[in-house]
Amino acid sequence: MARLFEYQGKGFLKEAGITVPAGDIASTAKEAFEAAARIGKPVVVKAQVWAGGRGKTGAVRFADTPKEAEKAAGAILGMEVKGFPVRQVLVEERLDIEKEYYLGVIPDSSWHSRAPVVMFSTEGGIDIEEVPEDKVFRAKVDYLKGFPLYDALDLASRAGIPNQSLRETAAVIANVVEVFKKYDCNILEINPLILTRQGKVIAGDCRLSIDDSAAFRHPEMAITIPREFPWEPTDFDTIGWGIEETDFRGAGFVMKMTLDETSPGYIGFHAIGGGAAMIGMDALSKVGLKPANFADTSGNPVASKVYRVAKVVLSQPHIEGYLLAGFMIANQEQWHHAHAIVKVLREELPQRPGFPCVLLLAGNKEKESLEILREGLKGLPGRIEIYGSERVGDSDFIGERLLALVEEYRQEKAG
Ligand code: GDP
Ligand code: MN
Repeated sequence: MARLFEYQGKGFLKEAGITVPAGDIASTAKEAFEAAARIGKPVVVKAQVWAGGRGKTGAVRFADTPKEAEKAAGAILGMEVKGFPVRQVLVEERLDIEKEYYLGVIPDSSWHSRAPVVMFSTEGGIDIEEVPEDKVFRAKVDYLKGFPLYDALDLASRAGIPNQSLRETAAVIANVVEVFKKYDCNILEINPLILTRQGKVIAGDCRLSIDDSAAFRHPEMAITIPREFPWEPTDFDTIGWGIEETDFRGAGFVMKMTLDETSPGYIGFHAIGGGAAMIGMDALSKVGLKPANFADTSGNPVASKVYRVAKVVLSQPHIEGYLLAGFMIANQEQWHHAHAIVKVLREELPQRPGFPCVLLLAGNKEKESLEILREGLKGLPGRIEIYGSERVGDSDFIGERLLALVEEYRQEKAG
């Protein structure tokens, strides 16, 4: 899922006719001052990061004057919120809150629904998981019919919205469902949806994530990598995404798993398939090793794609070994992998003498693939062990072999 910043999401809400607080984006404290001066009222200053729960971390602050807004922005712009450095703040008019509601739309893929579901609660402003189940009201969206006003009215009245704000609240709900559809959303959450003391219904926050595969349909969103990240994409992640972006033949997924490059025990991790990846990670953690990255080449990718993935995995200078975690009997022809791995290791190992490589690969064309690996890697200056289907169910063995090689390698390097 590709996630947008709050201010971007609010821009799309506004375009659809949903009221959002008057506001501006600022990248410096001075710009925040100017924004607050333009708004001419007390404001809220909010960190723009791909994370929620900012209120609790001090990343949402109130300011009565432009000077105070400048100060708040200065503090927030220096923060890191849930792993994300704050590069921009949203300066918005402060609302007079009468009540905070929760409004969210998500796809429900369970068999009895298989449709987007609208969730609404009068207990908003806190995580929806913390709202008692009997206070959360749901309605299924018929995708073709849409979510007409009468469905929204029914939902809002079930949730206990009083008559005088029923129509306006329902109009916002129906409208938000339209935005969800229009932008191919996976999540569209307004928490809080604010009822002001003046009786207006205004989107106080906006979380909008869209389906990765639909990103190309929305150039207006300027999504650079259609995937949700736990941190700002690193150069590694950007290069990894470039492999997928330019070649859709089979999976060739590679992404950082940690930004910690200082502690020992990181392994360049390269799995063949998602299940194999999980087994591979278990194999590492059982012996105290850690994946530096995630990578998966399955679904019958061409050798050039496997080559690019392995090359990116091995570009990490801090890793102490490489694991090709083919913990499955693959039906893809594995010799494409074998050729790719041979080429990569022939290029890389002369720069890393003694480097541990445990290569597990099983399935279609296994015999030929193992032969290609043995033949192609012969005489290289690495600690290379090659295994096939006889070890495919033995993750303990694979982990222990890798650890033994890593320990030898460390000793060799130390003295
Ligand atoms: P989140 O914590 O990342 O979800 O950030 P939100 O944008 O939802 O803000 C957190 C909380 O700050 C909200 O639930 C409100 O209680 C409060 N808040 C945000 N905007 C305003 C505002 O304009 N006026 C007032 N009084 N409170 C606000
Ligand atoms: Mn919120």
